[in-house]
Amino acid sequence: MLPYCRIAFSMDWKTLDAEVLVEAGAKSALSQRDPLREDLFPDKDEAKALLATCAEAIDALQDRLYAEQKRSLLVILQGIDTSGKDGTVRGVFNACGPLGVNVTAFGQPNELELKHDYLWRVHQATPRRGLIAIFNRSHYEDVLVVKVKGLAPAAAIERRYAQINAFEHHLTENGVTIVKFMLHISKDEQRKRLQKRLDDPAKHWKFNPGDLEDRALWDDFAAAYETVLDRCSTEHAPWRVIPADKKWRRNAIIASVVRGVLEEMDPQYPAMSWKPEDFAIE
Ligand code: ADP
Repeated sequence: MLPYCRIAFSMDWKTLDAEVLVEAGAKSALSQRDPLREDLFPDKDEAKALLATCAEAIDALQDRLYAEQKRSLLVILQGIDTSGKDGTVRGVFNACGPLGVNVTAFGQPNELELKHDYLWRVHQATPRRGLIAIFNRSHYEDVLVVKVKGLAPAAAIERRYAQINAFEHHLTENGVTIVKFMLHISKDEQRKRLQKRLDDPAKHWKFNPGDLEDRALWDDFAAAYETVLDRCSTEHAPWRVIPADKKWRRNAIIASVVRGVLEEMDPQYPAMSWKPEDFAIE
């Protein structure tokens, strides 16, 4: 086995993390990042086994986070249509107790949301102490689709990068750890996944003709993503670009990173003012 295989399977998550992290202030070079990264997890069965181990560990850590009631974790998932945001939620967090995890999907803002600033709806969905919140899309749509389709004035969009960095800094200074994953797939992989949605009747409901309009804007979305990664990967809330052409590899990497981040947070069960031996249950 090659040395890089051992990186993944020895669970040295920091080494793995360095492969996907966008350093604060560094250029993301998105177009040069391989959406496949066969070197990271060459073996599907081993990646799946690691995912299962990490999912269990995430559940145990979430239990401690919930009991501690002091801090929270916000996981942000971004990626173009079919990049696997839903599949990541299902694959990585399926071992967690539903009470401890909130998932919010951000679609087109409704009438009320449009009457507020773009961060209003987002702030309300941030996790309270003890919880993990997962964003399926997020405030980044306001510098992605909104930019690509010109849904807000360019000058307003330009100001948002700094506003987002300040917002996220505010959250992290108030007990929210933020982990951001960009699910990076190739244009060819998206074609295959869209085709599957047409071929499989059970997937028809997932097909949205509007996805083809967005696909036609592939290069514009890629440029908008690159700007996000370059400008909003910060010390307090860094971006990770996840090779996502293979679902099992994507899940194994994300689960490893989430587990690593939670282990670093090291949530503790609270000390009790009583001792078990003080009680006798009849
Ligand atoms: P998904 O494609 O994530 O499975 P939907 O089919 O509900 O879910 O699509 C959500 C759509 O909402 C996406 O096309 C996304 O670009 C759009 N969207 C999300 N946030 C915004 C926003 N702030 N402004 C405009 N469109 C948005």
